[in-house]
Amino acid sequence: MMGKATILVIDDEQAIRDSCCQVLIKEGYQTETAVDGDAGFRKTRELKPDLVLVDLKMPGMSGMELLEKIGDVDPNIVSVVITGYATIESAVEAIKRNAYDFLPKPFTPDQLRIVIERGLERRRLAIESARLQREKEMMKENFVTLVSHQLRSPLASVKQYLGVIRGGFAGEVEGKQKDMIERASKYIDNLLQLINDWLDMSRIEACNLSKKFEPVDLILILSETSQLLIPLADARKITIELNLHDNLPMVQGDRESLKQAFMNLISNGINYNRERGTVTVSTREEVNDLVVEISDTGIGISEDNLHFIFEEFFRVKSKETQGINGSGLGLPIVKRIIEAHNGSIRIASKVGKGTTFCITLPKKR
Ligand code: ADP
Repeated sequence: MMGKATILVIDDEQAIRDSCCQVLIKEGYQTETAVDGDAGFRKTRELKPDLVLVDLKMPGMSGMELLEKIGDVDPNIVSVVITGYATIESAVEAIKRNAYDFLPKPFTPDQLRIVIERGLERRRLAIESARLQREKEMMKENFVTLVSHQLRSPLASVKQYLGVIRGGFAGEVEGKQKDMIERASKYIDNLLQLINDWLDMSRIEACNLSKKFEPVDLILILSETSQLLIPLADARKITIELNLHDNLPMVQGDRESLKQAFMNLISNGINYNRERGTVTVSTREEVNDLVVEISDTGIGISEDNLHFIFEEFFRVKSKETQGINGSGLGLPIVKRIIEAHNGSIRIASKVGKGTTFCITLPKKR
C-alpha cells in the first residue's frame, strides 16, 4: 500500500470507536470515525478510505444498507463488519452485500490487526490485478494496431506489386520468373490469412459482440455460406448437402460473426475431406436451443489430437494434412464466437471416417 492506509470506523458506540482508533494509530494507520450509517456514508464518499469498519446495528441507516452503498462508491474499498450479534446468517448476508470479513465483538487488538492487514492485502491485490488487466489490454491493443498497420498493410502492398510484375505491366517476365512470383504471392496470401485470422480472434470479445446482437435467421446464414463455398467444394469434387428446417426459430446474435463461424466449419469440412466426399449441414430444434450439425466424410481426427483441437495455432501434423494451408486459428475463432452467443460446440471424429461438429445456440426468447 502506498503511504499510510486510511481506515474509517463507523460505530455508534464511542468505546469501540476509541479503542479501534487507538490500536490502528499505533500501527501507523490514519483513522477517521463516524457515529452512524449516514455520517459514515458521507465520510466514505469524501475520504475514499482504504478500509471501512462497519457496525451492523446502528440507528438510522443499517450496516447492511451501508455496505451496499460503500460498494457503489468504490468497489475497491474493503468493508469489514463488526457486530455483537454475530450469527452465521448475518455473516452470510453481510458477505453477500459486499463485506470482505467479519469481526465479532468483543475482539482483541490482535484480532483487529489481523483482520485489517488481511483486508488491506486484499485491496492491494485487487488494485494490482486491475492495473495488470489494464496493462494487458493496452498491450493487446497496441499489438493489434502494430500487426494491422505495420505488418498487414505493407504485405498487402507487396502482394499488389507482385501482381503488377507478374502481369507484365512492369516489363516482360518469363516463365521461370512467373512461377517464382506466383509462389511468393501464395506465401504472402498465407501470411495475410494468418494475420487476418489472428486479428479476428483478438477482436472477438463477448461483450463487443453482444452489442451487435439482433434476431438472426440461421437457415439463411447456412444457405448463404454454403453457396459461397461451392467453388471451393467443386474444386475438390466435394458435395455440400443441406438438410435445413423450414421454420426454424430465430437466434439472437451477430450475423457476420455467425457467418464467419459456419464458414470456418464448412470450409474445414471441405479442406479436410477426401475426393468425392460430402459435407452435410443439418439443423434441429430442441426445447430451448437450435442445433446445427456439420458432418464430413473426411480424414477425421485422432483421439489424442481431439483434446487440442480448439487450442490456438494447433494443427494436426500428418501425411493427409501436409499440403493444406491454415493458421490453426479457425476453430478457436469458432469457439469464441459460439460461446459469445451463450452456445456450445462439441466435436466427434473417427480417423478415416469423418468429423461432426455440433453447435448449440439458444433460441431467441
Ligand atoms: P486451420 O484449418 O487453419 O489449420 P482450424 O483451427 O480450423 O485451423 O483447425 C485446426 C486443425 O484441426 C486443422 O489444422 C486440422 O488438422 C484439424 N481439423 C479441423 N477441422 C477438421 C475436419 N473437419 N476434419 C479433420 N480435421 C480437421
